Amino acid sequence: MTGTIPDRPRILLTNDDGVRSPGLLSAYEALAEVADVTVVAPTDQRSGASHMITLETPLRAFPLSDLPGYRVDFTPVDCVKLALKQLLPERPDLVVSGINWGYNAGFLVHYSGTVAAATEAALLGIPAVAISLCSYRRKPDFATAGRVTRAIVEGLRSWRLPDRCVLNVNVPPRPWEELSGFRWCRQSLEVFEDEYEKREDPRRKPYYWLTGSLGALEGQAPDDDLTAVKEGYVSLTPLTIDWTHEAVYADEGAGADGLAAGLDAALRE
Ligand code: MN
Repeated sequence: MTGTIPDRPRILLTNDDGVRSPGLLSAYEALAEVADVTVVAPTDQRSGASHMITLETPLRAFPLSDLPGYRVDFTPVDCVKLALKQLLPERPDLVVSGINWGYNAGFLVHYSGTVAAATEAALLGIPAVAISLCSYRRKPDFATAGRVTRAIVEGLRSWRLPDRCVLNVNVPPRPWEELSGFRWCRQSLEVFEDEYEKREDPRRKPYYWLTGSLGALEGQAPDDDLTAVKEGYVSLTPLTIDWTHEAVYADEGAGADGLAAGLDAALRE
């Protein structure tokens, strides 16, 4: 059962960019003033890992020397599961995943290890926030996103994140004073097609590399996350972990000519 969080919450901080990423450090520094933060994050860069878990390889956790917590081989979801089941002495009040380097809005949510780590926490009944900085610059300034992270944690002291709902936050790359504001958003349905570049290895065998720079992404609807970020707003998107398509579910359930009804009738013939 999730509720509002205490004034000084216990926070598990993780990410998918790896334990050495500057975004994680920014989140830690911003949150350590207002929370008891333990870091459990992947040893290496794991962007695009989505909800992958490690099944056939032993998991190892190494204590960090500069932050309270551990680095774990391998994935963000491994980190959350291991933290909650083994590494943390107490259940955290909140899981924060980020600050990710790059967008996690719209279709990108499906690939995101950042969002998946938060989703894993929500599956286990712990309030969870994923937070990303919408910049692909080599060394972006995480200061604004750090302030946003802290403001959201402070906001969750009085606003209750519903059970099994992940709050997905995307921050535009602007100074705090130049933010347009915060906007409650839906996930954009815009999909960008990427490409593969075909090259040849020294033995003349082809290999392929995912390419294409996303640049500044644009949404489809006035109330979607990508539009908000484009307009300088911090987008706050409540994500569900129930993937049922409500409209199709309701429609199919109502009609005798639906797929399940037809198959069921054929079974009984
Ligand atoms: Mn990432």
